[in-house]
Amino acid sequence: MKVLLTHDAIQARIHEMGREIARDYAGRDPHLVGVLKGACTFMTDLAQAVDLPLTLDYIAVSSYGAATKSSGEVKLVKDLDQGLEGRDLLVVEDIVDTGLTLNYLLNVLKARGPRTLKVAALLSKPSRRLVEVRVDYIGFSIEDHFVVGYGLDYNEKYRNLKDIVIYGAD
Ligand code: 5GP
Repeated sequence: MKVLLTHDAIQARIHEMGREIARDYAGRDPHLVGVLKGACTFMTDLAQAVDLPLTLDYIAVSSYGAATKSSGEVKLVKDLDQGLEGRDLLVVEDIVDTGLTLNYLLNVLKARGPRTLKVAALLSKPSRRLVEVRVDYIGFSIEDHFVVGYGLDYNEKYRNLKDIVIYGAD
């Protein structure tokens, strides 16, 4: 497998993102919602890089499967512990590919009345997008590769790799 992004490069970028988020949310207490399981590693490092009194919660979604993939219909597997009314919500995603999952999730979360709603994604594959979805903070835009590591899996494996690697590459 070929290393696409080293752990050091990921950490350096996350620190930049953290500083940007801290600047943008100065004087407020952002509420970070991580999308399990892929965003877990990114969420932990990003939260530490934002020097503000933030709060954390997690949500888990799963796609209904290949047949309905194009509909973007996803199932809430684990809901949030806390309400979102009036909060400055920052959704933390591992990767935005077609955008269908995020689009669905944002509609669900918007309906719960956050004061503001933004998205931070570690990775984005813009060439794969099927729906337009705004991502406010992007770690890295990448080509159309299937990547694993740093939280991202293939059949639940490789999440513990420190680097982000291209799955299947020599
Ligand atoms: P979307 O709905 O944007 O097409 O898909 C988003 C989800 O698909 C991500 O949260 C992730 O779980 C999965 N995904 C998309 N691209 C990749 C990839 O390159 N590697 C891995 N491991 N998962 C991906």
